[in-house]
Amino acid sequence: MTTTDTPVLVVGGGIGGMATALALARTGRRVHLMDKVAEFGEVGAGLQVGPNVMRIFDRLGVLDRIDEIAFRPENLILRDALDSSEITRVPLDGAFEEQFGYPYATIHRADMHAVLTDACRDHDLVTLETDCKIVGFDQDAQSARVFTEDGREVVGSALIGADGVWSTVRTQLLDDGEPRITGHVAYRAVLPMDEVPEHLQSNSVVLWGGPNLHLAHYPMRNGELFNMGAIFHSQRFLEGADVFGDPEEMHQHFDGVGAEVQTLLGKIDEWRMWVQRDREPVERWSDGRVTLLGDSAHATLQYLAQGAGMAIEDAWTIADRLQATADVPTALREYEERRIVRTARVTLFSRLYGEVYHAKGVARAVRAQMLDGWTPEAARASFAWIYNGI
Ligand SMILES: Cc1cc2nc3c(=O)[nH]c(=O)nc-3n(C[C@H](O)[C@H](O)[C@H](O)COP(=O)(O)OP(=O)(O)OC[C@H]3O[C@@H](n4cnc5c(N)ncnc54)[C@H](O)[C@@H]3O)c2cc1C
Repeated sequence: MTTTDTPVLVVGGGIGGMATALALARTGRRVHLMDKVAEFGEVGAGLQVGPNVMRIFDRLGVLDRIDEIAFRPENLILRDALDSSEITRVPLDGAFEEQFGYPYATIHRADMHAVLTDACRDHDLVTLETDCKIVGFDQDAQSARVFTEDGREVVGSALIGADGVWSTVRTQLLDDGEPRITGHVAYRAVLPMDEVPEHLQSNSVVLWGGPNLHLAHYPMRNGELFNMGAIFHSQRFLEGADVFGDPEEMHQHFDGVGAEVQTLLGKIDEWRMWVQRDREPVERWSDGRVTLLGDSAHATLQYLAQGAGMAIEDAWTIADRLQATADVPTALREYEERRIVRTARVTLFSRLYGEVYHAKGVARAVRAQMLDGWTPEAARASFAWIYNGI
């Protein structure tokens, strides 16, 4: 293990940045992570976590702590939002775990972020800095440096832009414009489980697919909380992200859905809204000592529930390559080469899955026919490229 005195600079302390700092520190690298927020944390709502991600948590030495906060759903269930029929179910049972080596979990995103942040705080090699907005960077043959909004310059051996879908590092590095507007919005809310009518308290991840919309829900935090995400195609997609939604607009979109979905939506008065954006996959996202990671590199729609998962896989891969290869630009190139196709596949397949969930008319009938009689074995085979992991 070699500790170099010059730190690797990580811009962004979301799930991707924190996982990266931890992964690098565990290989003996000094890390300086900077975020513009006043306090580290994640806003609300849950995450689904596939076995591919649990495998990385194991490698990062945090699986026990993740296990303490994770809920293990019994199935992934797809139901038709209009007539409430069950279209298919994928058991997440022993056979699933045996095939992929780790379980499927649901986790409150604040809890997951806290596990990663605490592990970073506990590590001597990680420096975490808040209130530090990065406005640009520069590099030469020996180093990379970032410029902060308050006029400072921080020097490191490499720069990893883990600064999210509106990445400043990406703008300077690739100059390829804003993320793609998809016209989909997500309304998210969390309910105490005892406020959910008993007949709807499922221990599974349930997705109700309807025309241009879906509702997904699952338990988290030992089943004490019930996470809900209502997604629909909206004309109001230019309004920004992470603001309060307009329940009236949401109820209009869900007007024709069955009683169960109506009941669940009626339980919430206040929703937070996320405008859904993704990026066209690119062939390169590194240059010399500077690279991107997580949403800044490959923002995706959430329909495969793998955006944070890909960021965590990125984190492992970049630490692995920097450990294996002394030359930083070569290591970053190798990291990128290992991640481009896999993350692009997630981005492109997420769009496709969105179409399946939101099918209407004849497409809805095609969905029902295709998934009729889908066996657990066939389902596992179709997900193997994701859940086998890296
Ligand atoms: C509705 C919805 C549901 C989802 N569900 C799932 C799911 O079930 N499973 C899953 O795996 N993924 C899911 N995702 C995707 C997941 O949330 C993201 O992919 C993931 O959080 C991205 O993490 P990140 O660290 O790359 O970026 P971010 O979380 O965006 O973190 C970026 C950080 O950079 C900081 N920053 C930005 N600019 C600067 C700057 N100039 N200077 C300093 N700091 C800066 C920000 O403050 C922030 O802390 C979902 C997403 C949405 C919207």
